[in-house]
This record gives sequence, structure tokens and C-alpha cells, in this order.
Amino acid sequence: MYRVAVVGVQGDVEEHVISARRALERLGIKGEAVATRKHGVVSKSDAVIIPGGESTTISKLIFREGIAEEIIQLARDGKPVMGTCAGLILLSMHGDEQVEKTKTKLLGLMDIWVKRNAFGRQRESFQIKLDIKGIGPFDAVFIRAPAITKVGKDVEVLAKYDEFIVAAKQQNILGLAFHPELTPDTRVHEFFIEMGT
Ligand code: GLN
Repeated sequence: MYRVAVVGVQGDVEEHVISARRALERLGIKGEAVATRKHGVVSKSDAVIIPGGESTTISKLIFREGIAEEIIQLARDGKPVMGTCAGLILLSMHGDEQVEKTKTKLLGLMDIWVKRNAFGRQRESFQIKLDIKGIGPFDAVFIRAPAITKVGKDVEVLAKYDEFIVAAKQQNILGLAFHPELTPDTRVHEFFIEMGT
């Protein structure tokens, strides 16, 4: 049975669990999606999602609980790992000055440069239609979103908004600046699960 773990220490966890369950159903894969805040679940899963929330808080908790090491191992095993919004920040190798100032530990799984709260205060939250490579037009919800400002050579850019990269993939790692779990459309979660099947 295919298991998707959603790191449940903070943020929009339940929405990801529901989207992942619906995506599994639509793909006809027998499986489950579970939220976890304890060591031991991610390592027994086939895929893991790091939700949005507050990157500083999520970082502290995953490193304290030993979940960070489990995510890194899963990624090394070639299993799909998806980070959305704050989760994208945690996936990156190169943080910005805010990441440095708050001494936020990153997982360093994607060769990308991220900028926290890249869209400014005037645009705290907004919804736009993106064209995502491999998925197509997608209604994307941004909430105090980060952006990818630069990518390394092994990273594939999947979507851009203005001058910012907002979706990217590096082998089995998928990073999104927006929240695919906040719309009923499950295609991003399907794409993610299919990366590992
Ligand atoms: N601004 C948040 C951070 O930097 C991310 C926002 C979100 O995940 N919705 O951690």
C-alpha cells in the first residue's frame, strides 16, 4: 500500500492529507495519506509533503523531532518529496538574509535560491492562473509566498510568475511557492505521486 506522509507539525496539514487522498483515488492507487509529527512515519512512507506555514517554526520542529533526517533519507532513496510555500523554503540549499538572520536550518535538497515573502506586503495573498509544465493551467493561491530567484543546473523550472520562478523540480524533489492543497484541483498532487510510481 502506497503511503503519503504529510509533515504535520504546523501549517495547512489537513488540506494536504485530503488532496493526497483524493489524488491517490483519482490515480486508482491503493494507498493512504497520513499526517505525522513524530519520528518513524516518514521513513515508512513512499512520499512526503512539507506544507506551508512558518518556515522558522517548521524547521525547528522537524530538526528537533528527527523528522528532517528521515525526509533527507527518503529523498536520497529517490522517493518523491514535495514542499509548498514554507515547505519550499525548507527544501532549498540557499536561503536569503531572512533565513540567515533567523538561523533557520534548511534541508538543502534542491539547488535553488529562495527569497522569503518575495511578493511584498501589498500582495500578501492572491490567486492567479499559472501554466505549469507537465500539468497545464492551474489556479494557484499564494499566501505570503516565497519565490525562487535562481536555480542550479540540475533543476527544471516548471512555472514562472513575473520574474520569479514559482515551481521547480530536481529529480524526485518538487518545490512550489503556492498552495495546491487550497483548491479542489488535485492535479499537482497527482503529478507528485506519479513521480514515484
Ligand atoms: N512566509 C512564510 C515563511 O516564510 C511562508 C508562508 C506560507 O507558507 N504560507 O515561512
